[in-house]
Amino acid sequence: MSSLYPRITLLAGGVGGAKLALGLATICEPGQLSIIGNVADDQEFHGLWVSPDIDTLTYTLAGQIDTEKGWGLADESNRVLDNLKRLGCDSWMYLGDRDLATHILRTQLRQQGVRPSIIAQRIAESFRVHSNIILPTDDRLQTRIRTPQGWLSFQEYFVREQCQPEILEIQLEGRERAKATPEALAAIREADILIIAPSNPIVSIGPILAVPGLGQAFALSNAVKVAVSPLIGGAAVKGPAAHMLRACGYSCTNLGIADCYTDLIDGMVIDHQDQSEAEALKQLGLNVMVTQTLMQHTAEKVRLARELLRFAQDQATAEKLAC
Ligand code: GDP
Repeated sequence: MSSLYPRITLLAGGVGGAKLALGLATICEPGQLSIIGNVADDQEFHGLWVSPDIDTLTYTLAGQIDTEKGWGLADESNRVLDNLKRLGCDSWMYLGDRDLATHILRTQLRQQGVRPSIIAQRIAESFRVHSNIILPTDDRLQTRIRTPQGWLSFQEYFVREQCQPEILEIQLEGRERAKATPEALAAIREADILIIAPSNPIVSIGPILAVPGLGQAFALSNAVKVAVSPLIGGAAVKGPAAHMLRACGYSCTNLGIADCYTDLIDGMVIDHQDQSEAEALKQLGLNVMVTQTLMQHTAEKVRLARELLRFAQDQATAEKLAC
């Protein structure tokens, strides 16, 4: 590991992932940080291709996120959406006026045949984001959720139904055909430190690792590999992670999170509230750091990022000494 500027690759979903991404980006050199985002929540609305997790990363790193909601752009208005509603169109997916420009550009470029990865890069550059935002695949990958009312897309379950329906099954459509992007493979293979953000392991991180080749590259990497738990006090900070963990047969504990990442990570960061789980995680052979993992303000995001990098670098040093 080059001790001065280790290459860092973060696997991240939307809101939870973007918080840690911002902390890391604040302390990293430009270009030092690569972030592989989730595209399995993408969906078409009003003829436009919307990529919520990638946009959350971009807007957060650009300092333009609506900090109260954790997604969408600050200083938004919804005149277009109001008019769509008046015209009888579905309006359950909130798309602000400023945000729509991103979706219009993305859709135009996709129709011109530009690779989605290049589009994401171009949008990030236009927002002056210095970290590399990388797509795991340029192919269509879709989380599908089976509920008593039938199969739903992720956005139908999450936004339209407000996570209310019981989850009977979760599937990832398109995973067999999906091809990993060269950018994602390189970001994993060339990283000194691989970090899994405190994102939903089932529908945010799972779809990244499920892209053929990416999970294997992650497992085979010699980088130090650390996950930050999205659970605090045995519950998700926000969102349906707890239901999804249980629906997929995992416990809603840090051991359950560790189970999701079996054979993939060397270390885990958990919250003070879950200190009692540290010993059991160590028994699994994991290095464990216990700290405050709730990131409400920028200072907390930066502090956690600093502690995390120190934790990863200590592990790298210990490994070197053991050789
Ligand atoms: P989504 O795609 O927008 O749902 O975003 P993610 O998958 O990246 O994040 C959702 C997860 O982030 C949830 O399971 C939350 O528990 C977790 N999360 C959100 N904020 C925090 C935080 O400040 N600290 C920790 N540890 N987890 C968080």
